[in-house]
Formats: sequence, C-alpha cells, structure tokens
Amino acid sequence: MADEDIILPKGDLMKGKRGVVMGVANHNSIAHAIAAQLAAQGAEMAFTYIEAMEKRVKPLGDALGVKHYVAADVGSDDSMEAAFKSIGEAFDGRIDFLVHAIAHAERDHMQGSFVENTTRAGFAHALDISAYSFVDAARRAAPMMGPGGSMITLTYLGSERVIPNYNVMGVAKAALEASTRYIARDLGPKGIRVNAISAGAIRTLSLAGISGGRSMIGRGRQWSPLREDTAPEGVAGCALWLLSDLGRSTTGEVIHVDAGFHIVGLPDEMEGGS
Ligand code: NAD
Repeated sequence: MADEDIILPKGDLMKGKRGVVMGVANHNSIAHAIAAQLAAQGAEMAFTYIEAMEKRVKPLGDALGVKHYVAADVGSDDSMEAAFKSIGEAFDGRIDFLVHAIAHAERDHMQGSFVENTTRAGFAHALDISAYSFVDAARRAAPMMGPGGSMITLTYLGSERVIPNYNVMGVAKAALEASTRYIARDLGPKGIRVNAISAGAIRTLSLAGISGGRSMIGRGRQWSPLREDTAPEGVAGCALWLLSDLGRSTTGEVIHVDAGFHIVGLPDEMEGGS
C-alpha cells in the first residue's frame, strides 16, 4: 500500500479523543491504516509495538503526529503493566479508545493438518498472544475510559469457517470474538463499547506467515460479491465509525469488512456443478 493510494477523509470526528493503537509493525499493518484514518480525523494517539519494530514504527507514527511510544510485549505481564502505566502518565490517566491489532502463532502451526500439527504449547501461545492479549489490554485500558470509550480488535473469518492452513489461528480468533462479547457485557454499563472487525485477507507481515496466504487474497478477489481485494481503507473506515461517536449503540459485534466474502456459500465458478 503506497501513501498515494490511501484516500482518507479528513475531519473532526476524533477531535479531542486520545487513545492507544497496538500492532503497527510496518507500513502495511492494518493498525497503520487505522491510525492514519484516526489521525486524519484529529485523534491523539500512543503507539505500542514490539521492541524489534521500533525503528520502523517511530517514523510512521511521527508522520501521523503520534504523541507517545512504548514497547509492549503482550505475552508479558510486566511489559504490559509498564506500557499501560506509561500511557496513563502520558495522557493524564484518560483515554477514549483502544485499537488491538495483534496476533501470532508459530509458523509450523499455520500449515497442513490442524489435528496433526497443533501442539499443546503452540495452541497456548496462539491463544495467549492473539486472544488473551485483548482481554488483558481491555482490563488495563478500561479504568482510563469514561462513557463514550470504545475498543476494537481485528479478527478473521477463520473463526467461523474452516480456512485451509489458518488452523490454530482460527481457534484463537473464535476465542477473541467470544472475548469481545464478554468484555462488551462487562464494560457496557460504564458506557464503553467493544467490537471486532472481521477483515478480509490483506497483504501484511501476518498474512505472510500463513502457508498459502497469497491465495487467500486471490480467492477473496475472485469469489467475493464485490470482486475486489479488501481495502485497508475500508477496514480503517469501519474502525473510525466504531471508535467515534458515530458508533454509538453498537457493541459486542463482529463486523465483516471483506468485500462480502463471508456471505458466499458456493463460489460462482462452481455454478452448474462443473
Ligand atoms: P501485522 O503483522 O502488520 O500486525 C501484527 C502485529 O502483531 C505486529 O505489529 C506484531 O508486532 C504484533 N505482535 C505479534 N506478537 C506480539 C507480541 N507478543 N506483543 C506485541 N505485539 C505483537 O499484520 P496485520 O495483518 O496488520 O495484523 C493485525 C491484526 O489483523 C491481527 O490480529 C490479524 O490476525 C488481523 N487480521 C489480519 C488479516 C490479514 O489478512 N492481514 C485479516 C483479518 C484479520
């Protein structure tokens, strides 16, 4: 995705709102597209990132006016504790939104047979980094939020349907979506909304870790009703809706932004039984 390709409506929908974006690794990250859209609507942001990505992340954040950076390994309680303390100090203990765009499974768990290749340790790792991390981040962010607060996470259709090679990550995404509903129930009485965006396949570092990831994009383009790739800007637009006051009254949802791919039962090329 090149800068000139991104069309970002500018405005004031996020003016006066500040929040945390977790999961920018590089220019192609879905979190980067979301952050760019939030910045274009006046949001103030902190970025969390894994240490190894620092050199890439900071220039991207600086271009968007990011106010605060802090390393956070979601697999470590100490790291998460320190990160949210630092965010609280940077924003005087008040934030309005949280973007969670983080997932990881071992590469050898995202290929071939799910039942044969999934180890106890690999299962625990995928669920920890990709699902529990949202529960943990939500618990740490919620005390800094008031009514109107909003949190989102990123999920994929592999939670609902069997997608070749997606394997343990599909199970993790199912846990993530169920967690979204439980968090929404708990935080709803405080006026905080919690939702998930189920994005279609997009060319990112994460997708490269899935065996056959490219064909997930190709099939999306071929079989989706819109016959196009999922646009990062479309995901970012949905994030803007959910994180701004436009999203009022919507919570606990999993919203598909995938050119309609999830509605297809039988792909067109198979019509007529050929
Ligand atoms: P990405 O690789 O750019 O982002 C994944 C992020 O997770 C990276 O920033 C990485 O540093 C971070 N991460 C991994 N382990 C971590 C850890 N222990 N602590 C902290 N951060 C860690 O790829 P992406 O596609 O933008 O992924 C963002 C989210 O979107 C993921 O949840 C992914 O599953 C989801 N998603 C992606 C697609 C797609 O096709 N790319 C589709 C649907 C959903």
